[in-house]
Amino acid sequence: MHSFLGFLRKTSFMKPFQSRIAAVCTVAAAFFGLSAVGLVAQPASNATPIQIVADLTEAGRKLYHAEIDLPVKAGPLTLITPQWIPGNHRPTGPVSDITGVVFTANGQTLEWRRDDVNLYEFHLTVPKGVTSVHAHLDCIVTARATTKLAVLEWEKLLLYPAGVPVKEIAVQPSVTVPAGWGIGTALTPVATGLAPAPVTGVDESGHAPAAGSTTTKYAATTVEQLQDSPVIAGQYFHEFALAPEVTPKHYLDVVADEERDSELRPEFLAEVANLVRETGAMYASRHYNVYHFLLTLSDVAGGEGLEHGQSSNNGADENQFRDAQHQLGEADLLAHEFTHSWNGKYRRPGRLYQPDFETPEQGDLLWVYEGMTQYLGNVLAARSGLKSPEQYRDLLAISAANLDNKPGREWRSTEDSAISSSILRTNGMAWSNWRRGQDYYQEGELLWLDADTLIRKLTNDQKSLNDFEHIFLGKGGNTGPLIVPYELPEIVADLNQVVAYDWAKFIHDRVAGINARADLAGIVQGGYKLTYADKPSRGETTLGASGSRRGSGTDVWYSIGIRVGADGTISDVLWDGPADKAKLAPGQKIFAVNGVVFSGDGLRTAIREAKGKPEPIHLIVQTNSFVSLIDLDYHDGEKYPVLVRVDGTPDYLDEITKPLTVAPQGANAPASK
Ligand SMILES: [Zn+2]
Repeated sequence: MHSFLGFLRKTSFMKPFQSRIAAVCTVAAAFFGLSAVGLVAQPASNATPIQIVADLTEAGRKLYHAEIDLPVKAGPLTLITPQWIPGNHRPTGPVSDITGVVFTANGQTLEWRRDDVNLYEFHLTVPKGVTSVHAHLDCIVTARATTKLAVLEWEKLLLYPAGVPVKEIAVQPSVTVPAGWGIGTALTPVATGLAPAPVTGVDESGHAPAAGSTTTKYAATTVEQLQDSPVIAGQYFHEFALAPEVTPKHYLDVVADEERDSELRPEFLAEVANLVRETGAMYASRHYNVYHFLLTLSDVAGGEGLEHGQSSNNGADENQFRDAQHQLGEADLLAHEFTHSWNGKYRRPGRLYQPDFETPEQGDLLWVYEGMTQYLGNVLAARSGLKSPEQYRDLLAISAANLDNKPGREWRSTEDSAISSSILRTNGMAWSNWRRGQDYYQEGELLWLDADTLIRKLTNDQKSLNDFEHIFLGKGGNTGPLIVPYELPEIVADLNQVVAYDWAKFIHDRVAGINARADLAGIVQGGYKLTYADKPSRGETTLGASGSRRGSGTDVWYSIGIRVGADGTISDVLWDGPADKAKLAPGQKIFAVNGVVFSGDGLRTAIREAKGKPEPIHLIVQTNSFVSLIDLDYHDGEKYPVLVRVDGTPDYLDEITKPLTVAPQGANAPASK
């Protein structure tokens, strides 16, 4: 899952700032060896697969349909649909959107009853002599679907026997799309033809695929792998082959609402091809048979970043990659989700991996799963050219400053933000600096930067975190899609294999301890210091100017201590900051600043002009239906975070962002298939 940079966008519509961190000290019950728990994703041999046909032809009407044929035996049968979705770190299975559920066998409708406790389970009784039950269901799809494109994460349409490990349930998927639409997925196609007439069990003739719709059948797999293999489809579809000299093969599949948005810039494609090459140098292994970056560009479909083993489901605004300026806001999106193929999918914290999608996932090691991915994704984006080294540093400064000025860290550890992940993901902005959010993302980024620069320092620049990644993520060499769980002692042992150090204490102090300030040691060891300037950095200015569906706003967090939307609505107030002391509150709307109607520029000017003077900043503020006058006693001027080079120290931060590979001559022009 991607930690969207919503918090950088300074708006009341911002997604909650997501943090990261982690865990530790609970010594893992056992050190799992690779061979002991490698979970090969292969269908159970000789099993008749479930057949599922997903109909995406009504995407524009917010409806998907499925026809499912399940091999059964006579007697009681419990079918189930996924609840805990890998990568979401919380129970987001869309059971409440699943509708029109009808079971039939031999032409007869079967009665069913939902389980009274587990609402994801359907109980029915299979009559004697029946070996196959047909299930019809629909899913109401309110995001990631438009009249021009559709995204299918299979949990929307899946039903399978309960109580069986999902890696042991065979399933053969098919996908129906409107005439002329293209499909992107890591699934292996075996046949394509005109869509067959659906067998619904109810009269849904008004919702049948239109004439000319096509159905593509894919090779049988397991329910575990199918859930991990999303599909994008659309009228404006392009598939670009990336870095063709690299094996296995990599593709960028894009769909968009408008044709011009699906025609990606050659520069962007070259950077993503570089990303493929750079992961080879960073991870020294690949754990997939083929990899598809699935990308939707649509202002309607919404943003997304969800990792899978052989693909990633990425969604962004239609103009997100149209030029370098817009690109900055999501420059690490593809690099982050791609990194998860190694860190999160192949290597997964033991308790984040469950044999089914019903057992709750436990997030204490998310500072590795997400936090190390946050670090590596940003580093890889810089090495690939998706962002410049300066932009890397500017965004790192924003992230580090945000963590360093987060009062909630006085009561909540990074580990607790990881353990609490499933209850922190959807919270609003109000007082989020006191609650903390999913801080294990950005805290993990600082921790792994600290580790990387420390390894460089301890080994006199002979080794780096790359050496650790080769060991930890490359263990077992190249594999197909595979899940190999781990526990904390393996991380410590692998770090010690790179360079001897008290890594257990290093991790415990940063993850489990209460630390009033952020871990800035990696920035210092990298040859820089975090400081505050009276103007935003170029990177911050670019982010603000590029806009996004999340709107624009004004971030005066490090001066008066508020984040405020373009209309003057305060999204958050810094606990114990100047605005807090003046009794401002999230949700209030600033009408006027020093007698002038509110604007972001006007607020910044007032802060600037109050510097060193006794007169407070005068605000007129609306709280629900009340209006009040508030004076803000702040006189230290504007403050924006930036990293400044410390001369005479090793510049590891610059070294870290340098590419490790060179594109072959003439290779940087990926062709559309
Ligand atoms: Zn992630």
